Amino acid sequence: MERYSIIHEKNSREIVLLRGSGCVYTKCTFCDYYSDSCKNEEENFRLNSKVLENVTGIFQNLEVINSGSVFELDKNTVELIKKVCKQKNIHTIHFESHYLYNNRIADLRKEFSDFTLKMKLGLETFDYDFRENVLKKGIKEKSPEKISENFDEANFLFGIKGQTVESIRNDIELGLKYFERICINIMCENSTSVKPDKELIKAFIKEIYPIYKDNDRADILINNTDFGVGD
Ligand code: SF4
Repeated sequence: MERYSIIHEKNSREIVLLRGSGCVYTKCTFCDYYSDSCKNEEENFRLNSKVLENVTGIFQNLEVINSGSVFELDKNTVELIKKVCKQKNIHTIHFESHYLYNNRIADLRKEFSDFTLKMKLGLETFDYDFRENVLKKGIKEKSPEKISENFDEANFLFGIKGQTVESIRNDIELGLKYFERICINIMCENSTSVKPDKELIKAFIKEIYPIYKDNDRADILINNTDFGVGD
């Protein structure tokens, strides 16, 4: 499993895939990556320390992901992230979180007040019905203003039966309106029952990808390892 990479393109940054105690939610129907977790905090810290040794600060910008939410990382790992970022003159740190931790984000920002924190939400889509009844994302909020209130960035998931070129375009436009940056993920075959819609993905690549591929505020991952981490 690759746990460190450098993103040279848009918003150049280093990225680390750390390991936490595990997603507390685990109900998203499309997701099987929450299995990258361990309840033993010491083992996680040992692994995370090794991964963080790779960080050089080349772009002074670090994205930290952990197959769940930042709040599931152990305290020692969180302290080490701060220490490494200070040592390497990193000014911007990106973390991911599920919406259920919404009310803990202000405190996290205080804790990381020496840095610019960019919080990324796993939103997947603004379409409430699709998100909650098909993807079972667990975000019981409809208002884009409220959803984006504490988050700077968002992940979207496209290429699933039930979505259309129009719904995708609408999500991207809303995403760019309500967030500083968005990350578009195309559904890849995994062990869940949610399957990629190949025709829709083809249409995405033909009709939507060319419009946004050079947009600095949009990362587009056609394969889920395109950032260079994961397996
Ligand atoms: S997508 Fe995120 S919140 Fe949903 S089950 Fe997977 S790790 Fe948990």
